[in-house]
Amino acid sequence: MIEPFVKATSILEKIEAAGFEAYFVGGSVRDYLMNNPIADVDIATSALPEEIKEIFPKTVDVGIEHGTVLVLYKGESYEITTFRSEGKYEDFRRPTDVTFIRSLKEDLQRRDFTMNAIAMTKDGKLIDPFSGSIDIQNKLIRTVGQADERFKEDALRMMRAIRFVSKLSFQLEERTMQSLQKYGQLLEHIAVERKQMEFSKLLIGANRQEALHLLVELQLHQYLPRLKKYSLELKQVANIPALTTLDVFEMWSIILITIHKEEIELFLREWKLPVKDIRKIKAICSAYYYRMENEWDIQALYHIGKEICIHAEKIHTIIKKGSIAENIAHIEKLYDALPIKDRKELVISGQHLLEWENNTSGPWIKERLKKVEQAVLLGHVKNDVNSIKEWLYS
Ligand code: ATP
Ligand code: MG
Repeated sequence: MIEPFVKATSILEKIEAAGFEAYFVGGSVRDYLMNNPIADVDIATSALPEEIKEIFPKTVDVGIEHGTVLVLYKGESYEITTFRSEGKYEDFRRPTDVTFIRSLKEDLQRRDFTMNAIAMTKDGKLIDPFSGSIDIQNKLIRTVGQADERFKEDALRMMRAIRFVSKLSFQLEERTMQSLQKYGQLLEHIAVERKQMEFSKLLIGANRQEALHLLVELQLHQYLPRLKKYSLELKQVANIPALTTLDVFEMWSIILITIHKEEIELFLREWKLPVKDIRKIKAICSAYYYRMENEWDIQALYHIGKEICIHAEKIHTIIKKGSIAENIAHIEKLYDALPIKDRKELVISGQHLLEWENNTSGPWIKERLKKVEQAVLLGHVKNDVNSIKEWLYS
């Protein structure tokens, strides 16, 4: 067994010693069977959340109403979820009530795709009632049970299917694909936050180009915020060579740039992205528009900042089909040569000016400091108290 599971094995042992069942489940088992790196080891158990909390001293109630407790153990954290079946589905959304059960099989049955419905014991034995490991071998995404029913129960699963196409480079199994064609509209009922999380993951998958094409071909983009009218532009993005070199912020930016969105903030707010991500994506887009008209120079680098300039340069380069490494190296070199990287590095302050000028405080200080900052940045004077004093008053 490989490292993340080895470390978690004693968790399963502890739960079993208390008289309950416990298994590794979900994405970690799937990724393990594919020889992919494993993100988080998730655990499913017959123990109730309260019973888990009695076994482990350090826990956090992250989703206790759904049966999930976060256990902090030997420097790692693990989500431990009680076997559950989901209650009645209403409005094509996830059920609000869940029923805890003691049967693993039923818990696996509520899961979305066969590849995600495999459990593994601490000894590496698989419990795979829906033949998920065969689908993994054949690289197929197949719903557990009737695809029509499963998508009607929770329409988000359709987005998840496409994001797994992106992440794993799998194909949609025939029936799963047919249902997806039929029920796309049900995505209208899904909370934007949930759609955003899956879409953001879709954007960074190894197979994102095909996934974006599929999203448009299956018309799912119509039910995503502000993308309804942009099938051509989304395909245009999907066709950009080297698209997979971009990170999630650059991907959001390149979409906005390609659909010529002027209301960047509104677009991203409607997608309910976190405020700090919105700020970053907006900055990347405007740096990109600046770069379209200009070469990078001292002023731009200083005011926009190296990080945002590099994001914008990556987008600019793949659109222009240039060499990313070379262009980033150019930015790094320019940036390293800046005499100061930030206003805080200026050696003089308002206090110096007050002493030197024998004047009272006022708006002139800010003005004068700005002048000094510019002069230092452009190399007209050294960032040194005496040099600045001489430059100002001689
Ligand atoms: P990743 O490694 O990309 O996180 P994952 O399979 O772990 O992929 P999660 O969103 O973390 O995906 O979900 C964990 C597990 O919970 C899934 O593997 C699946 O078994 C189950 N699951 C998640 N969302 C749904 C859903 N909407 N319907 C049914 N089962 C779901
Ligand atoms: Mg996961």
